[in-house]
Amino acid sequence: MPRHRDQALRDAQQLERSRAAPWTIGAIRRQLDYGFRWLRFEPALEREFEHDLNRSARANRIALLAMAALTILLAPVFDTVVFDLPVAANTKIRLVQYAGMLPVLVLAIVACARGVSARLAEAIMTIQFVAIVAGLMGVRVLLMEQGVDFPVEFTAVGFVGIVALGRVRSRIIIPVGVLTALLVIAIEVWGIRPPHAAYYHLAAAGTLVLIAAYLQYTSEYSMRGAWLDQRLLELVSRRDGLTGLLNRHALESSLTVAHAHAVREGLGYGLAMIDIDQFGRYNNGYGHPAGDQTLREVAQMVESYARRPLDVCGRYGGEEFTALWIGESGDRLEAHAENLRAAVQALHMEHKRSTVGPWVTVSVGLCYVSAPDENDSLSAVLATADRLLYKAKRQGRNRVATGSFESLPRPALTGNL
Ligand code: GH3
Ligand code: MG
Ligand code: MG
Repeated sequence: MPRHRDQALRDAQQLERSRAAPWTIGAIRRQLDYGFRWLRFEPALEREFEHDLNRSARANRIALLAMAALTILLAPVFDTVVFDLPVAANTKIRLVQYAGMLPVLVLAIVACARGVSARLAEAIMTIQFVAIVAGLMGVRVLLMEQGVDFPVEFTAVGFVGIVALGRVRSRIIIPVGVLTALLVIAIEVWGIRPPHAAYYHLAAAGTLVLIAAYLQYTSEYSMRGAWLDQRLLELVSRRDGLTGLLNRHALESSLTVAHAHAVREGLGYGLAMIDIDQFGRYNNGYGHPAGDQTLREVAQMVESYARRPLDVCGRYGGEEFTALWIGESGDRLEAHAENLRAAVQALHMEHKRSTVGPWVTVSVGLCYVSAPDENDSLSAVLATADRLLYKAKRQGRNRVATGSFESLPRPALTGNL
């Protein structure tokens, strides 16, 4: 079985589910209204942002670390060819570069490539930055002893690099970058005491750091804005505004993916059409706002019965929902659908005008496909579930009508799935 495809599907659906919390759209709108001048979202959004940033940052971070490692590897060429330094004089410098800086970079590359958590990745990037600056200052001091003025600007170049490619959030990297720069200046002024003319180098390095810090702020600000817009668009286009479930469009594409998955893996599945009984009468009796609230509650219950990684559920339209459960036997599916029906009834939402009973109830048409075949279209399964739903309605509502797709006559199709 191609496990990676299966895993990718699970991941995608889990992500979809974790991002589908009904509050998310509201939270994003609030965040956009409230603003984020301090580059911090409310905690739940911040966690999602961190997670997305971490995933998208991996390639950039590895590229940055690899460039730094390559530069260090090439350093001896500079030292010997450009500055004509005797090899014996280089031992301490090589030690700093090869035994200090290079291992730090290699460790950081390995950690990033393995995909560590967002927080850990940020910590690693920040620590390696400080270690590299310390190494550069060590090299500078050692080269000074050989009469070579290794430019202090390299420390600022390190900061520019992490700002451009490190994807560490500003609230961490700006203070660390500025503090490191101040420390470098202090070491230069009180420790190394270069000739006055060399202070221009310090001014250049300081300016680079300030520009990079500003760039870090503005680019993170626009990155956050774009992320909020994109998430909002994603949610609004895939979610039903009233219930928070998948809307018809997203439901159809998720059902199609699940159906194809079941065919490919030879897994049986059940598809249920769930319809609120006599909901027209409910609206007439209690009004549409109350009807909307009831729809939300039934939707939540339907969703709570479709929470496994490969389950699908959504609002088919009006007061109808669809659920798809993969990899269960017909009996278990029937029991699951029956439990869902009973759970809605047990919510005890009053429905005085119902001829079925005193509470809001649902009828379910459950079509069980024991051996999905690629010649059978999803629309045929949907149409069969729909026919079963109407059977449940005819038989008195508040019940589950189950049928096996293979043993029922194929319906005439009009859909396009
Ligand atoms: P049955 O038991 O046969 O399913 O009867 P029913 O009244 O539920 O079915 P019908 O199709 O006649 O009516 C469905 C009602 O669902 C009509 C409509 O007012 C209501 N409805 C559909 N969408 C919404 C919605 O978003 N909000 C509210 N409040 N009502 C809705
Ligand atoms: Mg109905
Ligand atoms: Mg209906």
